Amino acid sequence: MTEARVIPIQPVASGAAPDAAPAAALADGLGCHAGRDQMQQAAAAAGKSDVLAQYAADYPLRSDAGPHDQPQSMCPAFGSLRVGLRMRRTATILSGSACCVYGLTFTSHFYGARRSVGYVPFNSETLVTGKLFEDIRDAVHAQADPARLDAIVIINLCVPTASGVPLKLLPKEINGVRIIGIDVPGFGVPTHAEAKDVLAAAMLRYARGEAEAGPVAAPRQARTGQPAITLLGEMFPADPPGIAQMLAPMGLAVGTVVPTREWRELYAALDCAAVAAIHPFYTASVREFEAAGRPVVGSAPVGMDGTHDWLGAIGAAAGVAPAAIDAARNATLGAMRGVLATQKINGRITLSGYEGSELLVGRLLVECGADLRYVGSACPATPWNAADAEWLRARGVHVQMRASLEQDLAAVAEWKPQLAIGTTPVVQAAKQAAIPALYFTNLISARPLMGVAGAGSLIQVINGAIGNQARFDSMKDFFGGVGQGDEAGVWEEVPRHFPAFRADVRRQNEKARKKRKAEEMGG
Ligand code: SF4
Repeated sequence: MTEARVIPIQPVASGAAPDAAPAAALADGLGCHAGRDQMQQAAAAAGKSDVLAQYAADYPLRSDAGPHDQPQSMCPAFGSLRVGLRMRRTATILSGSACCVYGLTFTSHFYGARRSVGYVPFNSETLVTGKLFEDIRDAVHAQADPARLDAIVIINLCVPTASGVPLKLLPKEINGVRIIGIDVPGFGVPTHAEAKDVLAAAMLRYARGEAEAGPVAAPRQARTGQPAITLLGEMFPADPPGIAQMLAPMGLAVGTVVPTREWRELYAALDCAAVAAIHPFYTASVREFEAAGRPVVGSAPVGMDGTHDWLGAIGAAAGVAPAAIDAARNATLGAMRGVLATQKINGRITLSGYEGSELLVGRLLVECGADLRYVGSACPATPWNAADAEWLRARGVHVQMRASLEQDLAAVAEWKPQLAIGTTPVVQAAKQAAIPALYFTNLISARPLMGVAGAGSLIQVINGAIGNQARFDSMKDFFGGVGQGDEAGVWEEVPRHFPAFRADVRRQNEKARKKRKAEEMGG
């Protein structure tokens, strides 16, 4: 066991004002519901300014102080946790408040992790004295068994990040097991999509260093010998083989999908002719590929225009002759033209999500004939989705990057679509208004999108959903009279209104609110 040492945690000055930033962060229990600014100040004061500055550059918020000052969907750290849990021979350990860890482990098992999540608990004392860091280091040493593991990932959640728990002081490797410590606070990483990038990039950086230092392990699957295209972004399992077919006439192969499923795939991912940033929010990962000298191409082979442009861009990046690019285009676009000529989507649609692939789905919907009015993505505008946004806007679609839930809901209210595709609360609101709705994450991003297979599959599911309107109407007729809001439920009598009582309660609440505010300002 290594000798205990004191870790440089920002001390709390006695008599500090109650809202002093570090003091706020040191109190367990603050998190999404505490102010972002307060947590950021605490983290900066505790020595995390460089990490936060990098996150601010990589994952920019909207200039009008956009909505993502607090997570509006699941905890962002879920993205990193998921990437770690999906890798073979990799252990993932969380350091954070118990309530956050409870939610994250629950969600990961809900999504079928089938893997234990490590947890190093803390209390105010271990946080303030630096003992938490010692506990994390002990946990990492206890887990570092090279017979079982290639890597251990430790994720600092909000409170340990704001308190400056210095994961960078952990050893880089123990007994040959790589140690990857990352900070993934909700006040620095806006979405769980971008949190995937935080871990993917940290691993790529580590693997790049190893590859630069000497020979590294070959990937498990034999390679074809053709120049490979690395695919950046989690996608439906049928998409990479579909993309491989499209690339074949250019003499290119599909390489590794990042985030990878195993450590040694990281070397293969770096060893590519070009990188296809299918998901556009992997800013830090792109930096690693560019540092390795790999060209990066945005957008994806969705729809006729998207596939035409993407094949051209990939071919150019990989140095393919124009004749071979044309051959690849002809092979795919001919078949896709056939699908689009025989099937169509007829209906007005709004689309929103937080997966990062919303613009790609939007393009495909438009090419399939949909009257698409709005695309909202919780992810930011990047160079790799710029062409998609421009293409959609040129066709009259309102594109909202870093969209808030409120904007997504307003779009449904404004356009009254025949189908609302969205996140859980958007779908809930649409269904309440008797509008057919589909969950983006479970029903749209979990199906093929690329090439011919993508077009065929999307048309089917969308038309099926729009065709459900009659069922929504009959449900509304049947249940419509059971009451709404505070009148909903099972009542023995029809609920009666008491406007005077309601006004009285409202007055009392308002009075109490003003009193609280006056006390806060005076205190
Ligand atoms: S770690 Fe996640 S759940 Fe916990 S406070 Fe931060 S954003 Fe919220």
